[in-house]
Parts: sequence; structure tokens; C-alpha cells
Amino acid sequence: MKIYLQTLGCPKNVVDSEILLSTLDVDDVTLTTDAKQAECIIINTCAFLLSAREEAIETIFDALRLKQAGSCKHIVVVGCLPQKYKKELEQELPEIDFFFDELDFVQIGRRLKNFLRLSGGARYNRYLITPKHYAYLKIAEGCDNRCSYCTIPSIKGRYRSRSRQSIINEADQLVDSGVRELILIAQDTTSYGRDEKGALLADLIRGVGAIDDLKWLRLMYTHPAHLDHDVLQEIRTNDKLCKYIDLPIQHISDSILRSMNRRIRSADLKDLLSTIRSMIPDIAIRTSVIVGYPGESDKEYIELRDFLADMRFERLGVFKYSREEDTPAADLDDQVPEHVKDERVEELMYLQESISLENNQRLIGRVLEVVIDEFDPEENRYIGRTQWDCPEIDNRVIVKGDTTVGSYINIEVQEAMEYDIVGSPVDIR
Ligand code: SF4
Repeated sequence: MKIYLQTLGCPKNVVDSEILLSTLDVDDVTLTTDAKQAECIIINTCAFLLSAREEAIETIFDALRLKQAGSCKHIVVVGCLPQKYKKELEQELPEIDFFFDELDFVQIGRRLKNFLRLSGGARYNRYLITPKHYAYLKIAEGCDNRCSYCTIPSIKGRYRSRSRQSIINEADQLVDSGVRELILIAQDTTSYGRDEKGALLADLIRGVGAIDDLKWLRLMYTHPAHLDHDVLQEIRTNDKLCKYIDLPIQHISDSILRSMNRRIRSADLKDLLSTIRSMIPDIAIRTSVIVGYPGESDKEYIELRDFLADMRFERLGVFKYSREEDTPAADLDDQVPEHVKDERVEELMYLQESISLENNQRLIGRVLEVVIDEFDPEENRYIGRTQWDCPEIDNRVIVKGDTTVGSYINIEVQEAMEYDIVGSPVDIR
């Protein structure tokens, strides 16, 4: 049977899809990357924002058109959308064969194998959708933080850490299969172990970092209210850990942080950021902010803008507030008009573009270690990343010269753009 799986949303969905494919990757299954060739189409959905739900519904209708055309026999929908709206979806879209609302993707795989009458044992190693040299490692599910604008706790439930040993076993398997970069993910990685009263994040990092052939370990989705000194010490001293941290601050104004229920005051946030900068001088801090949150007047917005101009984050994501049903923020007064949100997003992205260009220009002449992620046949060049860049969301390195995908090479930086740098391989032995 030919199966096509489309993954929407975040890296946590990528891991879920990989686990599902590992369960389905049996003798009589061929995984295809062309939906038109598929007898069974599986869609792993995101429901975090209205825009994500609209994209999921559009993707479902695309698959339905293929089913009506007769090329596809079965359509299966998994992930956040059925986890939140299964009943409604089953009523509205009876043509869909299955809506799975489980969080356990091995379980979904087993049920799907029965439904599709597939035989044979599942794969031992995780099937990777990402290039084979890096993989995401999900260390927990759910979230207890209850930020006022966020729907995730109502979809994924309470925070549940995976056992330290199961994570290290999976990391071992992935490194054995050729992965050299592991990216730690969860809704909030810094809450790891707090629900179990067990090993905390710093200890887990030491455990995964001890795997011999692992080259880079990257920390994503940290929460400023839970980021502790031990973790920072690991980033500072652990050679495997990229000098990089993803630390969403969302805002800097005290009244907005309080209303968002971010559990940290502006002064403490500033202290934390200056501690990070002093402890790890060459770190790249990635953050994300939300503009247009209810109650964000010009005063709060200007406070955020001026703070970003001062702080000069190396990597920044700017999102406009999305009024999500069943969230406390949706019922707040002082909702900000859409055009004001758009103007603020545009202004902050324009500000960040100049900060990023200046940061990149300072790299010209430096020799940096780069991992090669892909070959771009159209441009006839290799594309890579530094330790300061997470796949898919951060800056790229355009490599002039020959190399191989998955290799770690040294390049000398020759050109700088807003978000990309260009360089040639150098031999520094
Ligand atoms: S930390 Fe806040 S924004 Fe992130 S998943 Fe949890 S509730 Fe949502």
C-alpha cells in the first residue's frame, strides 16, 4: 500500500509523524512523497491558531478531492485538530475514514495497521522525516503554564515528562543510525522532570551529551520563569551543547507579562538575559514576541520595540496576537485592531533585519564550523547552518565550493546578508 503523510505545525508534530511512520513502515507499505500516488493519505494537523486550523481544513479538502477523483481510498486525520474537535469533525466530514484524537502515535499506528490490514513488524529505529544527520528529541508532552493566549494546554493536557532512560535510549538509537545533531523539544523543556520530582533538564542534557558520536545538542522552547543556573552552566561548559538558546519572552511590559500569565516580571527577565550574556558571551539567543495582545497601547508597544533595539537578539520571531476561543485573553477588553497589529509586526521585523545584518557583517573574515543540510540544485550550491542556527527557522550559510550533505566543515565568511551569510570551505588543520 502506498501511504502519504503530510505533517503540519511544529517540530513536535514532526516527531509524532516519525513515530507513526516507524509503526507503519512494514513490509507491504511504500511511503510516497506524492499525494496523487497514495492509496492512503494521513494528515498530521496543528490547531494552535485559527490560521493553523484553516490550513489543516484546506489540506483535508485537498485530500478529499483526490479521494473523489478515485486515486486515494483512505484519508486519516491525526494531531491537534482531532485532539480538540474530534466530535465536530466526525459530524462535519463523514467522508474522512478516521479522526484519531490519541496522543500516543504508536497506538494510532497499531490501530491504523489493523484498519488498513497491514502485516509485518514495525521498524526498530525511528523513521526520520528530517535530513538524516539531525533529529528532534521530544522530552515531554503537555503544558502547565497556562499562558492566557494559548490553546495548547487544552489540547495536550498536563505536563508529562518522559523517563530519562527512554529519552537516552532513543537518543542512542538515533545517533547509532547516523544522527549527529539532536534538538531537544517540548512545550516547555525547562519544566522537564518537575512533574516527576525526578532528574531535571541539566542532568538530562549531561546524559544525552555523553553519547560519543553526538556532535551537537540544541535546546529549544525554554521558559524564562523556569530556566535555571544549572542549564546555563551546561550551555557554558558542555562542548556538545550549541551556544544557542531558544527563549520566548513574548513581551517585556510588566502589565502585559502579568496579563499573559508569563510568571515573570520585566526586571527579572532583563536580569536573566544579562546573566546569560555574561555567562556565555558568544551565545545566540533566539526569542519570540507577540504584538497586539489585548491592552497593548502605544506605551507598552514602544517599551517592547525599544527593548528589542537595546537587547539586539541574534534571532527573533514576531507574531501578532491571535484571539483564540477558550483562552482567557479572548475575553479581555482592549482588543487591538488588526491593522495596528500588522503595523507593529512590520516595524519590529524591519528593526530586526538591520540588527541581523549588522550581526552578520561582524562575522566577515571569521572561520566558523558549519553543518551542511542540503544541496540546492537550482542555485547549484550547498546550504548549511552554524551552531547559532536551528533548522528551518534561523539563518543559513550559503557555501561556495564542494562538500557533502551531513558533513561538518569550516568555512570562512566572505559576505553577509540580512539573514544569510556566504563563505568558502577552509582547511584549518
Ligand atoms: S508555555 Fe505558554 S505558550 Fe508555551 S505551550 Fe505552554 S501555555 Fe502555551
